[in-house]
Amino acid sequence: MKKLALHWQIIIGMILGVVFALIMANFEWGSTFVTNWIKPFGTIFINLLKLIAVPLILASLIKGVSDLKDISKLSKMGGRTIGIYILTTIIAVSIGLTVVNIVKPGTSISEETRTELVESYKGDADSKIAAAEKQKESGPLQALEDLVPSNIFNAASDNGNMLQVIFFAIFFGIGLILIPQEKAKPVKAFFDGFNEVILKLIDIIMLAAPYGVFALLAALIVESPSADLFKALGWYAFCVVLGLALMLVIYTLIVYAVTKKTPKFFLNGISPAQLLAFSTSSSAATLPVTMERVEEHLGVEEEVTSFVLPIGATINMDGTSLYQAVAAVFIAQAFGMDLSFGVQLGIIATATLASIGSAAVPGAGMVMLVIVLAQAGIPEAGLALIFAIDRPLDMCRTTVNVTGDAAVSMLVAKSVGKLGKPKTKNWNDNYNKG
Ligand code: ASP
Repeated sequence: MKKLALHWQIIIGMILGVVFALIMANFEWGSTFVTNWIKPFGTIFINLLKLIAVPLILASLIKGVSDLKDISKLSKMGGRTIGIYILTTIIAVSIGLTVVNIVKPGTSISEETRTELVESYKGDADSKIAAAEKQKESGPLQALEDLVPSNIFNAASDNGNMLQVIFFAIFFGIGLILIPQEKAKPVKAFFDGFNEVILKLIDIIMLAAPYGVFALLAALIVESPSADLFKALGWYAFCVVLGLALMLVIYTLIVYAVTKKTPKFFLNGISPAQLLAFSTSSSAATLPVTMERVEEHLGVEEEVTSFVLPIGATINMDGTSLYQAVAAVFIAQAFGMDLSFGVQLGIIATATLASIGSAAVPGAGMVMLVIVLAQAGIPEAGLALIFAIDRPLDMCRTTVNVTGDAAVSMLVAKSVGKLGKPKTKNWNDNYNKG
């Protein structure tokens, strides 16, 4: 019997998770059961993915950089990567602003609903505002300072900073290029083998993906707020989701225009990573799978994936920036503010920067939204307004974040002649030569 494709297995897992949670919700003991006996498996699954992320970045980036053989190639690829990342982010924010200005979801929120929502989520919002305040207090060069770790083990720890790990790996890779070949060879061979092991571990972890997403979604559903709130915030959610969907279409079109790879090919290749991003709300947790899919199924050479994807997971968040633009204008509308064109241009700049600064973990985009609000003079208390439905929107925006990284890696690969055939055996089935 033909084995069901991974993305179908994951989709079935998701649907069953939702159905299971809805059934459980009918029993008094149902949600406690899900929290105690189902949710831990979801957490274990996410932990496994995160566990693999740091060694994967280290091994593949060190190998990737040292394979480049000269520093000028590295800076060429680096320049392109950052340039395209910023460009796609600006496109995303502009789409968000256009949609929210046309639909005007904030104007349909009655003052009563607004007060009610703000009151009920005030405590949660305050903690996010406090977290953002801390970020704001830092000086202008803080981001640069944070890039350089003083201890690689701290950087790689659970609260560590992925950009610091990336910095170390690139630095190490450069050292490896510069030392004599005979000394570099065994070190490279080690990281090469290490990388293979990690890729195998990802394969093993992915066998559990359908069960992992089942547990994650079941837990999410039993913990989610009531449907009434969704109704009140429906138009706002619609704007975010519409904007994100447009962004997905734009990626497939750009990928097609530049690489001649069809949308079907692109989406087939990347869909398991998208589904995982949706289930985990974390680009960082999804990174190992994104790397595997882009390399094995989209034909991007490791030299490019190992460099472009870890950086993308950390700084390229098109979905997040789009959401921040929509949310900021929505809150302004709900508070009866009219934002001038100049202020909206400012939102493009701050949402771009805020999305770069957002960590690749659940809910991070909302913390950084506070900075966008403050810059545009929109009441920060408005955060409480959108709190209730942040998680589902986080799931959607993370999916776009991950898709954006994959699309850009294909563009960069094409531009440096590193886009080939997928490594999977059955590439003939869905490969479009173009
Ligand atoms: N959860 C998102 C991510 O990991 C970040 C965000 O909150 O927007 O990509």
